[in-house]
Amino acid sequence: MISIQGLRKSFGSMEVIKNVDLDIEQGKVVVIIGPSGSGKSTLLRCLNVLETPNGGIISIDDQQLDFNKSVSKKAIGAFRQLTGMVFQGYNLFPHLTAMGNVTEGLTTVKGQSKKEAEKTAGQLLAKVGLADHKEKYPYQLSGGQEQRVAIARALAMDPKVMLFDEPTSALDPELVNEVLRVMKDLAHEGMTMAVVTHEMRFAQEVADEVIFIDGGVIVERGAPADIFNNPQHERTKKFLSLLQ
Ligand code: ADP
Ligand code: MG
Repeated sequence: MISIQGLRKSFGSMEVIKNVDLDIEQGKVVVIIGPSGSGKSTLLRCLNVLETPNGGIISIDDQQLDFNKSVSKKAIGAFRQLTGMVFQGYNLFPHLTAMGNVTEGLTTVKGQSKKEAEKTAGQLLAKVGLADHKEKYPYQLSGGQEQRVAIARALAMDPKVMLFDEPTSALDPELVNEVLRVMKDLAHEGMTMAVVTHEMRFAQEVADEVIFIDGGVIVERGAPADIFNNPQHERTKKFLSLLQ
């Protein structure tokens, strides 16, 4: 579903993603772990071209962007629609209700009628457990509820892949599980997912593969049980020991 070859990204003279190769098969969940500043967010942001890579080829589904050549804005726009992204901060539109946040993209990007969009959005809000909160504004929702609206909003665009960048890091501990629950359900429905998270239990339970990234390179990757119980590299061992 996703294929990354030779991905490179620099900020000024600092190379943050160094020649990364990564494949994610359809329906698989990959959890990305690594120290702060190791390039996890940048990697996800390159996948939906919020950052423009300096080189490399990214393919998702049947579309490909080759950043070793010049890439058109139009190609990037189409490519971006393949992924849905959920960030640490919820980034909801504060002046729109939960319903309004989910219908916004459906009407503006997908060109649906208001009625159509509300039907889809209602289904998605029910799916994330917010059927009774459709008419609330972000300030009336808990952080966990806001994050679930953000997931529904991303799903509304019918992405091939969902990207999660520390989706529970800003939440009070008692709200983390309601978000992880929704992510687990998505995984079980066969959504292809790349998830940056420090929730090691989620990784153990849901990930098909765990990727440890440090200094802009993939140091180690494998099944969760192997990475967590039997890491091969010193850097992985050190990182995991600091989490205990
Ligand atoms: P992580 O998500 O693993 O904590 P990031 O991908 O956010 O790491 O950042 C990797 C490195 O790139 C860090 O050194 C960070 O300071 C730097 N960086 C990230 N975004 C930018 C940017 N827009 N401009 C300059 N440097 C950046
Ligand atoms: Mg980050």
